[in-house]
This record gives sequence, structure tokens and C-alpha cells, in this order.
Amino acid sequence: MSIAHHPGDELLLSYASGAANEAVALLVASHATFCAQCRARVQRAEATGGRVLTDMAPVPMSAQAYESLLARLDEPARAVVQAAHLQSDVPAPLQAYIGTDYGALPWRHVGGGISHLPIRTRGGMRARLIRAEPGSGVYTHTHKGEEWTLVLTGSYTDKTGHYAAGDVQSTTPEISHQPTADAGPVCINLAVTDAPLVFRGLLPKLVAKFHGF
Ligand SMILES: [Zn+2]
Repeated sequence: MSIAHHPGDELLLSYASGAANEAVALLVASHATFCAQCRARVQRAEATGGRVLTDMAPVPMSAQAYESLLARLDEPARAVVQAAHLQSDVPAPLQAYIGTDYGALPWRHVGGGISHLPIRTRGGMRARLIRAEPGSGVYTHTHKGEEWTLVLTGSYTDKTGHYAAGDVQSTTPEISHQPTADAGPVCINLAVTDAPLVFRGLLPKLVAKFHGF
């Protein structure tokens, strides 16, 4: 799979250092399942972080510290590996939040071929899935903050370009855009925002308010 649009260094580094907000971490980890290039970038960043830790002066620890650390690492790691259904088209990191079948989700219909589903994450940022039937578009909107969109299935186009499965689009407050799903498979995206979207026009504003965008 050829990926044209990747998360920026800032996002990858915050993910690799463990400092990323949960919603951002989910987006980067999911992108990495599509993208060997970013998996390598994350590994390099993690190795660099490891060297920084190695260079720090050691502090005394209790005799049980190592065992208790291992015990804490083992459980979730094993659970994630066992829980991942590799036949599913839902990226493994996302499976923990929504399961393995996009078709079985309680989509909330917004109108015009668009549905969405909020994903519960901690840390203040908002994560949601957006599902667009071919040819349907999200209302023109700008952002108060940044928005990152990972395409999970299908593809969409806006004035900045074409985004297919695995691509990440980053948009900033200056950009006003109207993404439209291309013909072909249904387009499902994972969208992460650090502030509510700002829609143009009264009707979109009412719809957005009602649906909690
Ligand atoms: Zn990438």
C-alpha cells in the first residue's frame, strides 16, 4: 500500500515518547498499521529516547521494582496481541475501542449520507469515526484548533488533495475545506480534533450542535 500523506514529526515524536494525548496516540498507532515508513520512524524515535534514558544517572530502586515493572508490562501487551483480529479491516489499535466490524457499530446518522460515532478517549481531545457514502460531503468547515483525519476505508477529496486508506490529513485553523467521499467503497475516517469544528451557515451549525461536533 502506498501512503501519500503521513503524520508530521511533532505527532510521531509525541507518540514515540509516550507524551501524546490518547486520541492522537490512537490515530498515530492506527496509521502505523498501514505504513511501514512511519513504523520505522517511530522505532528510530523510540531508540533515540532510549539512549537519552540510558545516559541519565541511575537512581536506587527496590529489589522488587524490576519484577513489578515486568508484571505491569506483560498483562496489557499480551491482551492487545491476543485481542487483535488480523482478518479485520479495523486497525488493531482501534479494535480495543470499536471492535472488529465497522458494519456492526451504532452509527449516528447526521444526514446527506454522513454518519458518525464518537470514541471515548481521555485527555480532552475529541476522537470520532466519520462514515461517508460515496459522493457525500461534510459541510464546509474551519477549525478552532487542529484536526487530524486518518482514512480507514475508501477515499475522499478536498481542495488540498486526495486521501486514501492509510493517509493522514492535518488541517489548521486557516484551512476551510469540504471533504467529499469518492466513488467506490464507503469512506470511513478517524478524526481527532483539539477543539470543536466551526461550520459555515445556520443549518450546518444547528446540525453540528445537535450531534455534538
Ligand atoms: Zn506514514
